[in-house]
Amino acid sequence: GAVLLEVRGLSLDFGSSRGRVRALRDVSVSVPRGRIVGVVGESGCGKSTLAFAIIRLLAENAMITAGEVRLEGRDLLTLTPRQMRDIRGRRVSMIFQDPMTSLNRVLSVGQHMIDIQYRDKISQADKRRRAAEALTRVGIADAESRLRDFPHQFSGGMRQRICIAMALLVEPALLLADEPTTALDATMEVQIVGLLKALQGELGCSILFVSHHLGTVAELCDDVVVMYAGEVVERGSVRDIFKRPGHPYTQALLECDPGRIHEKTRHLPTIPGSLPDLVEVPQGCIFKDRCPHAFERCQRERPPHYPVAEGHTASCHLLDETRGNHS
Ligand code: SF4
Ligand code: MG
Repeated sequence: GAVLLEVRGLSLDFGSSRGRVRALRDVSVSVPRGRIVGVVGESGCGKSTLAFAIIRLLAENAMITAGEVRLEGRDLLTLTPRQMRDIRGRRVSMIFQDPMTSLNRVLSVGQHMIDIQYRDKISQADKRRRAAEALTRVGIADAESRLRDFPHQFSGGMRQRICIAMALLVEPALLLADEPTTALDATMEVQIVGLLKALQGELGCSILFVSHHLGTVAELCDDVVVMYAGEVVERGSVRDIFKRPGHPYTQALLECDPGRIHEKTRHLPTIPGSLPDLVEVPQGCIFKDRCPHAFERCQRERPPHYPVAEGHTASCHLLDETRGNHS
C-alpha cells in the first residue's frame, strides 16, 4: 500500500562529555498505510530514539545531523515547534513504556481526556461522552464512573489502556508505541497486544511498535526492522524474516528466542559480546565483534543492504559473497 511514513537516511548524535555518541546512523524505515511495523533490537540499539526522533520529542543534547522524516509527504524535521505540536495532536500519537509519562497525576482521568480534546468544537458533555467511549473501547469497565478516578487508582496495565484510549481519541494516522508492554506481566502483555491489533483494524491507522522482544513483534506486526548499535541491519515482512533471517544478528536473536512465534519468553536475548562504542564507531561491519561468521572484508567495509527476497534486505557481506560478487 501507499507509504504513510518514510524515514530516510536519519542520523542523530547525542552530545556527551566523551564526545558525540552516534546513536542513529543512516536509518531508513518505511511504514505503509494500515500496517504495523515492529522495530526490534537490544537495549541501546537506538529503537526508542528513532521513535522519539520521528515525533520530535528529543532531549536537548540530541542533534539530527542528516536525513528526512516524511509523514504524508511532509518532512517533519523542517516544521516549526508549533506546526509539530499540531501534528502530534492530530496525525501522530505516542504511547510510552511508562504510562505515567503521558498521564497527569493531579487530574482525574476524565478531566485529562476532556482537556486533550481542546481543539474539538463540541460541548464538554460530548467530550466526556467520547472519553467514556474511548475507555470502554480499550476494555475498561464502568467507564463513566472511572472517569472520576486518578491515575494512581488504576493498575499498570489499566494505565497503559488509558494511554491507548487517549492516543486514539485524536484518531491518528500513525501511532508510535515505545515498548508499551515491557513493564507489564505476560498476561497483561497479551491483552495489550490484542488490543492494539484490534484498534488498528478498526481505525486503519499505522503503528510503529518498538520492542526488544521478537516474539511480541511476530504476534503483532506485519513488517519488522531489526536494529543493531544505531543501524538498521535487516528489514522485511515478519513472515520472511522468521522463515529466512538474512543477518547473523537476526539469526542470533531468533536462536535466543527458541519458541519463536509460539512461545513467549520474557527474557532479553543473550548474545555473547557487547555493543560497540558509539563515540568511536568502528570501521567495517557494526556487528563484526560479535559475529560468528566475520571475515576479512567485514573488518574494513561497511556492508550495504543486499536483497534476501522481495521486500526483504539485510546488511551483511555474506549475502554478497554467496552471489559471487567479491570485491
Ligand atoms: Fe558478520 Fe561480516 Fe555479515 Fe557483519 S558483514 S554480519 S561481520 S558476516
Ligand atoms: Mg528504549
